[in-house]
Amino acid sequence: MHVVVTGGGGFLGSHLCEALLRRGDTVTCADNLCTGEPRNLRHLTGAPGFRFVRTDVTEALDVPGPVHAVAHLASPASPPDYERLALQTLAVGSRGTENALRLAHRDGARFVLASTSEVYGDPAVHPQPEEYWGNVNPIGPRSVYDEAKRFAEALTTAYRARLGTDTGIVRIFNTYGPRMRPHDGRVVSNFIRQALQGLPLTVYGDGGQTRSFCYVDDLIRGILAMIDAPGLPGPYNLGNPAERTVRELAELVRVLTRSPSRIVHRPLPADDPVRRRPVIDRARRDLGWYPAVPIEEGLRRTVAWFRDQDPPRAHPVPATTAAGRPAA
Ligand code: NAD
Ligand code: UDP
Repeated sequence: MHVVVTGGGGFLGSHLCEALLRRGDTVTCADNLCTGEPRNLRHLTGAPGFRFVRTDVTEALDVPGPVHAVAHLASPASPPDYERLALQTLAVGSRGTENALRLAHRDGARFVLASTSEVYGDPAVHPQPEEYWGNVNPIGPRSVYDEAKRFAEALTTAYRARLGTDTGIVRIFNTYGPRMRPHDGRVVSNFIRQALQGLPLTVYGDGGQTRSFCYVDDLIRGILAMIDAPGLPGPYNLGNPAERTVRELAELVRVLTRSPSRIVHRPLPADDPVRRRPVIDRARRDLGWYPAVPIEEGLRRTVAWFRDQDPPRAHPVPATTAAGRPAA
């Protein structure tokens, strides 16, 4: 297959490009590298069947055909990134998604949208099944991301219903692993970087809020299964239902890194969801997908990767963000 991966220079996208190439597909990676990194793709450059196109998918996405599948992952994804790139996030969720859908429609290709657990907002239903419609503040600091993804889901659904495009939606829950940017501001990358540098681990609020962390290899298997499931619209939750408090995660990282770092508390950002855990029965039933890597093992692999990196570099970000979140 010839698969177009938008956002293929990012954390998840680069793993997806690699997995597709490994099984013999041809890959066109389209990315403007606004939050992605060239070094994520360095090992793929020159590989047979791999092509990188530096482009902003909100402007155009014109890839020579035939294209057999489009995986649309382009979007800033960490809270500090999407606050910093607020308008770009709305644009890539709307115009970017439409350009990616048009490309898929042109060639009768399978289209897979990387949506997010953030469509559930601060969920009033726990755990979250796909039937739940969510609890999102449309004008809060997270809205540029949440509403962009909700619009992207609506647009994807309309292309399917009105134009017959073969679309599918996956809702990805917090995923971690090698190639997260050490300064992306997400909790796993912050804690590991801080622990390895001997800095205090910054727990926002009292750390009683929960997330369910999925290892990247598991997640990529789920996206591949969705690409390979023509006709299935989803949405499917893809995530690891093992739920942890942020405090538990901090303790686990301290133990696994044998770090002397202490834990400090910082203010909880506005609208930070209190809890989050996927119901994955649908993905298990229809895609035969379920996560296999326990968090201890996934974190061990991630810590090993972080240890191997050059001194971490930061993207330019203000000292504090609009939501009062300490910048990475
Ligand atoms: P990431 O920031 O590492 O990767 C996103 C990629 O998209 C980057 O390479 C970036 O440069 C690219 N991009 C952004 N806007 C673009 C544009 N206009 N044109 C071209 N490229 C553009 O983030 P990630 O964690 O790899 O997330 C990938 C996708 O998965 C995103 O759509 C995100 O919303 C979704 N997702 C991720 C998670 C997670 O835990 N990692 C959870 C839920 C959903
Ligand atoms: N968080 C934290 N310390 C950090 C970074 C994040 O306590 O250094 C918290 C954050 O407030 C949230 C959880 O960890 O409750 C997950 O944050 P992340 O940004 O990774 O993902 P999201 O909020 O999008 O689920």
